[in-house]
Amino acid sequence: MSHSPADNSPENPFQSPTDVADDYLVRGPGICPYCGDADFERPYFTNWGGYIGPWLLTHAVCRRCGHGFNVNSGTSNLLNIALYQISSVLLVILALAVGFFYILPAWKLL
Ligand SMILES: [Zn+2]
Repeated sequence: MSHSPADNSPENPFQSPTDVADDYLVRGPGICPYCGDADFERPYFTNWGGYIGPWLLTHAVCRRCGHGFNVNSGTSNLLNIALYQISSVLLVILALAVGFFYILPAWKLL
């Protein structure tokens, strides 16, 4: 991931140089839909999606206002997050149902 300070967007002259985490800094075409800033970071882990969710949904968190959004579309990720969580729950239920109705009887455990 490139983190050159001259990629795009005007730099904030009042920003402390110490609060920029080099490891996370990603500057792409995305613009924060809440405040219009282009300074955001890609979290490795979120409470709603673990490690896979933010990667799957190209989730980013704005450094200026702290809101999360989708980098590719530049819009809110709330709907995608809801769908992600619903499908996660459905996958777990499906796995449990398969285990309960197929695997356990086949192994003579039920
Ligand atoms: Zn923002």
